Amino acid sequence: MMQALRAALREAGARFWLRDARVPASLAEGAPARPDAQDLLRLDVRIEEGRIAALAPAGSAEEGVSLEGGQLWPGFVDAHTHLDKGHIWPRMANATGDFAGALEAVTRDRGAAWTAEDIAARADFALRCALAHGTVAVRTHLDSYLPHAHTTWRVFRELRAAWAGRIAIQMVSIAPLDRFAGPQGEELADLVAESGGVLGMVTRLSGGVHDTLPPDYVPMLERFFALAEARGLDLDLHVDESGEQGARGLREIALVALRRRFRGRIQVGHCCSLAVQPEAFARETIARVAEAGLDVVSLPMCNMYLQDRAPGRTPRWRGVTLLHEMRAAGINVSVASDNTRDPFYAYGDLDMVEVFREATRILHLDHPPAGWAAAAGRNPARAMGIGAGVIRPGAAADLVLFRARGMTEWLARPQADRIVLRAGRVLDATPPDHRELDPLFAGAVG
Ligand SMILES: [Zn+2]
Repeated sequence: MMQALRAALREAGARFWLRDARVPASLAEGAPARPDAQDLLRLDVRIEEGRIAALAPAGSAEEGVSLEGGQLWPGFVDAHTHLDKGHIWPRMANATGDFAGALEAVTRDRGAAWTAEDIAARADFALRCALAHGTVAVRTHLDSYLPHAHTTWRVFRELRAAWAGRIAIQMVSIAPLDRFAGPQGEELADLVAESGGVLGMVTRLSGGVHDTLPPDYVPMLERFFALAEARGLDLDLHVDESGEQGARGLREIALVALRRRFRGRIQVGHCCSLAVQPEAFARETIARVAEAGLDVVSLPMCNMYLQDRAPGRTPRWRGVTLLHEMRAAGINVSVASDNTRDPFYAYGDLDMVEVFREATRILHLDHPPAGWAAAAGRNPARAMGIGAGVIRPGAAADLVLFRARGMTEWLARPQADRIVLRAGRVLDATPPDHRELDPLFAGAVG
């Protein structure tokens, strides 16, 4: 069925109606229709010269290409990935499958194999996966340890230029918070600023009890914020990615942002430990995060994989943060890929359909599904400060078309037969063959 649709789209030219589409209401703007019980709008969408020209109630257009009630989404926005370490699994597996094993394996691989060519080949592979799956924008964290960080950032400045017009790439530094406390902090922040990046770090803080903080922690945070302020940088932080009850990095980040009246955007990722903390403590933290205007991104597949893993023991919790409570508090929440085929997550393909499908199952983003689709488009676009992830008149006609009509049809299958439109034209792209990467791994298969 999708082949016929694909053929019709190829012949449609530059001005045509996409008829009888179902669009998630939270991913549309200016739509003259009311959502149904599944939060879907029935629309006809006018495409003209690569842009969305108009939205009309389904049945308005007299001719055009019919989706026969299939869903139509805006191109996906993936706001938290790690393209620099993606796909190294065949040569550097995670022996234990847990966080410590991941850190150890990646550190070894980075030291042994991350030449500019190696990084570029793996990242380009990952971007071609994302493109074929319908993604239009990707934010990637980059392991930033000096002096090697200069190589990685150069590779990604080049990739960003090479991919312009296909995938908008944003880069973020990641290194432990204490690295920013010394003279390296200035050099790293300068590198990020000169590269047009976002300043990021990772904090895994365990105080053991909620009111105990290492004495140098808040000063280090203040120093980190000051580095960003001096350069006008936004922040993107890995926060409390653990099941430690005493972790309170998230709260301290919100408090520092409030105290300093930080003017940039701040995205925080993971925040896993919030889900294992006492209700009152979690509620108070969420209130401060909302007050500080932090954007939160949950990485459900990676969290489910790494958190609560112990040999011979069945995991008891899902690893994800309190996304429902955060959204209810008015926080801008997203879901994203995180790692792909590396020691932090052995699977994945930068496919936001998979991410949203798994997020729905892991986080119960259903019954009712109201508004959650925004977490794969509008919300991450807002966190990244870009205009994408929404179907509205005037927006680029970067769209993903599905055969699936209702949400159970959409969530039941991988939607591998989806059609990606870029600027109103069918995109000829399939995910690359994993065999392409064989030369990087001496033929090893992961
Ligand atoms: Zn991450």
